[in-house]
Amino acid sequence: MSRKLYFIIIRINKKKLAASCIICFISLIIVLLIANKNTNVFNTNYHYNGKIVIDPGHGGVDGGTSDKSGLLEKDINLNIGLKLKKVLLDDNMKVIMTRDKDISLENKSKIKASRYKRDLDARKRIINDNNPDIFISIHVNASVKARKARGIQIYYYPSSEDSERLAHLICESINQNVYQKHLKLSTVKARIIPGDYFILRETKYPGVLIETGFITNVYDKKLLMDKSYKEALVKAIRKGIIEYLKM
Ligand SMILES: [Zn+2]
Repeated sequence: MSRKLYFIIIRINKKKLAASCIICFISLIIVLLIANKNTNVFNTNYHYNGKIVIDPGHGGVDGGTSDKSGLLEKDINLNIGLKLKKVLLDDNMKVIMTRDKDISLENKSKIKASRYKRDLDARKRIINDNNPDIFISIHVNASVKARKARGIQIYYYPSSEDSERLAHLICESINQNVYQKHLKLSTVKARIIPGDYFILRETKYPGVLIETGFITNVYDKKLLMDKSYKEALVKAIRKGIIEYLKM
């Protein structure tokens, strides 16, 4: 082959190669854009526009329920509440806390009533004034008479269908992700219960009150002090919330 012909062939192949590369690259971009639009498969971070009020029960002078060692419900509630706030903020949700430190809320209420009622009134107002999609009230259970009683309970106001749906989705997620996957427990299950609590009855928005375990039960108490349990729990609650917001 002459030297001149050799260079012509090389030049043609280079041109072909460059053209093929450009076509491949454009095709790949188009495929990625279509896939992304239709299925979100390339999004590892989902973003939701939910607005959630998190209400860690008790606080300040009101310790809530407790055990003999000085473990207080108010501290567990706040700890779980702040963890839940973090995972929801990671999803770009808007989060409002009724309290984010160790305080009671009676000073934020103007009604003339007992400290306890004013505290609850302030929580109700924070929920109602913020127009949230949902609210989550966090508590710890106790049963001195039945120390064997254990497990997470999710309360909703009986006539609120949306609250019941939210309770159901959170309950399912907790059973799957906390009891089955994280703790590998088949004997304990979360359950939903209709409840006529002030915070569920007096608020205008769907919401649930989650009793995150029994402080009076030796196994639950250990879990309530365990970081990995609380992290699995807030992730499971988050999943339930997302399922609710999707519908
Ligand atoms: Zn409580």
